[in-house]
Amino acid sequence: MRLVLLGPPGAGKGTQATRIVDRFCIPQLSTGDMLREAVTSSTASGLRVKHIMDRGELVPDDVVVSVIANRIDHSDAANGFILDGFPRTVGQAEALDRELAVRGIKLDAVLELEVDEDALLDRIRGRAEEAARKGEPVRRDDNPEVFKTRLEVYREQTAPVTEYYRSRGLLSIVDGLQPIDVVTEGLTACALAALPSHQIRSDVR
Ligand code: ADP
Repeated sequence: MRLVLLGPPGAGKGTQATRIVDRFCIPQLSTGDMLREAVTSSTASGLRVKHIMDRGELVPDDVVVSVIANRIDHSDAANGFILDGFPRTVGQAEALDRELAVRGIKLDAVLELEVDEDALLDRIRGRAEEAARKGEPVRRDDNPEVFKTRLEVYREQTAPVTEYYRSRGLLSIVDGLQPIDVVTEGLTACALAALPSHQIRSDVR
């Protein structure tokens, strides 16, 4: 099962991806997490992208495409994966298609979480407050100013990715404002609907 999870920042992609991982026994490939790891361990690409991420802008396509292309070759991704936070531009979506094609594989479905912007701003404030309350580190890009930039970037560069997949017949949209469990069920149902029936038994826990 090869999935892409789309949606604006703060839509709950991370939470839902974790649940889909359990359901389908596939790894979650989050470019945000991978890039943050690269920054923490001060690799060459980490040093290159730190300031871009802190500003809430997108790191260059070639950086994320090579991160993802390497990651999908790991053995745990042989039977599938869920991409979280990638692709974020039409250029990345095209590059992903090329990377999959050379491996003789393709996406089964693209699932989008739809959440309006006011709800997103409330959520992001809540996320930062909760982390601060628990004494956990607050993401440097989880403050209202940077978050506005992330939303603008999403509107301008990532929203067109929705159309890219819609026109290829791969897109399903789920209302991300519903309770968490209901969203998970909605996403799971869309993913299952995209699978050929003979594959369902072997892919689902
Ligand atoms: P969000 O909560 O906004 O979905 P992520 O954890 O997915 O955040 O990403 C955090 C930051 O990492 C982004 O704002 C961007 O700077 C960078 N990033 C992550 N994925 C990509 C990508 N596919 N293309 C470009 N930049 C990315």
